Amino acid sequence: MESKYIFVTGGVTSSLGKGIVSASLGMLLKSRGYKVSILKLDPYFNIDPGTLNPYEHGECFVTKDGAETDLDLGHYERFLNQSTTRENNVTSGIIYKTVIDNERKGNYLGKTVQVIPHITNEIKRRIKILGESKIYDIIITEIGGTVGDIESLPYIESVRQMKWELGKFNGLVIHLTLLPYITVTGEIKTKPTQHSVRNLMENGIQADIIVCRTEKHISKNIRQKLALFCNVKPIHVIESIDSKIIYEIPYLLHLQNFDKVVLNHLKLSTIISPNLKKWKIFIKKYKNPKYEVKIALVGKYVSLHDSYKSITEALIHAGTENKIYVNIKWIYSEMIKKENIKKYFKGISGILIAPGFGYRGIEGKILAAKYARENKIPFLGICLGMQIAVIEFARNVLGLKKAESFETNPHTSHPVICLMERQKKIINKGGTMRLGNWKCSFIEGSKIFSIYRKKEVFERHRHRYEFNNNYLECFSKAGMKAVGINPDTGLVEALELDNHIFFLGVQYHPEYKSRITNPHPLFTYFIKISKIYKSFDIQNSSYI
Ligand code: GLN
Repeated sequence: MESKYIFVTGGVTSSLGKGIVSASLGMLLKSRGYKVSILKLDPYFNIDPGTLNPYEHGECFVTKDGAETDLDLGHYERFLNQSTTRENNVTSGIIYKTVIDNERKGNYLGKTVQVIPHITNEIKRRIKILGESKIYDIIITEIGGTVGDIESLPYIESVRQMKWELGKFNGLVIHLTLLPYITVTGEIKTKPTQHSVRNLMENGIQADIIVCRTEKHISKNIRQKLALFCNVKPIHVIESIDSKIIYEIPYLLHLQNFDKVVLNHLKLSTIISPNLKKWKIFIKKYKNPKYEVKIALVGKYVSLHDSYKSITEALIHAGTENKIYVNIKWIYSEMIKKENIKKYFKGISGILIAPGFGYRGIEGKILAAKYARENKIPFLGICLGMQIAVIEFARNVLGLKKAESFETNPHTSHPVICLMERQKKIINKGGTMRLGNWKCSFIEGSKIFSIYRKKEVFERHRHRYEFNNNYLECFSKAGMKAVGINPDTGLVEALELDNHIFFLGVQYHPEYKSRITNPHPLFTYFIKISKIYKSFDIQNSSYI
């Protein structure tokens, strides 16, 4: 079967949750037995978000094949319980670079290179790559940005062309808009949606389904009014009500027959109902926790929680698995000082030091790692978090007071975190880190081995600097052991501390692989042990 294509556009404002709606639809279709993949088109000119500050666009999500991508790909993976690859995220940077490179090679045979057809052809080619793989029945394409934005125009035009080329039953456009609620008059307003749908029509696209983001339920009247003004049937007007739990959204959409309406439009069978059993169990468990633990998340981008999206989601998955509500205390690392550290970690049952770049906030993170080590508080250091634990141990246990990372001081006399030879020659920042899946072998008898219950795993990486193996022996003798090693390069992937309830640093990012139906074992263990820490007199515990 040829793949069918669904396009998801957004109108009225940004941040309405196109990623979640796309992921929810993908999940519903997959749970009916269809093979689905979701693609995100981002209208910015960066080649990828790898060079972006998280405050610009939130977390940078890394795929198994080492692409640095938009955080929505994390939602796609978590909702569909399947991995994405670099084909699932395309930016204007990639599109324009490809076209310009083609022009330099003389591939356009003397033609004037233009937005239509050259840029739009390249956009369409990228959209079709996943379809042409013959693996998927349905390709959902989320168009980043908002209809009406100058930079979105080539994408909207490509959707218009594709929809026409695909024909009536092979392509479908879902338009997500906002229905504002005016508190003073107690009314939901449809006008912005009408304008937005009209805006899309000015670009030659008739939306087939309107999904309305709303804070109040929409009445039959509103559905009928929108249907009348937007040329769709009332059953094609779907509400997407604000929900505290994003994982509830697929179910809420399903109750309005969203997936059925989509399949009917594409002339695909609806005989198999979605199997939402595991999903429902998760929601029930999530809503009814038996315990609570407070976890400190120490980072420097904490005022935008989206900067750590996969970590917070992994904590939710792990908490739910353990029937525990994970209460995250966000701690801005620059604020941590010797004098106030106790105040920050009062009532905390686990400390997580987040990934990061650069020197700002480093000393606060080192104090946090020291606090966790000395007070035997469960600790998980991810990527930079592991490197911080290493620096702290070097300074305060090994007595190497000048220990630093090469990243913050290339002239340090003790570069416990260093730069590999092949990284030294690299000039470009974009796409040049150690990225994507790398193998990690665990030392038998280690805590991490007992958590994974596997000798070898693949985990995703995104970093330039590494543990300096010249220090391996003295770290090990003093009680910090390399327990995860890349078997091909000898690079240290995980370190753990002796005589501690749980003190683990991992050079990779376990958060990228956590799914609701398959929580990551490291997070699950971290939350479990944090609860034990909270409820025990830990000094007398047999867990040490
Ligand atoms: N800045 C560190 C490095 O590049 C850590 C990166 C991270 O935490 N993702 O090695």
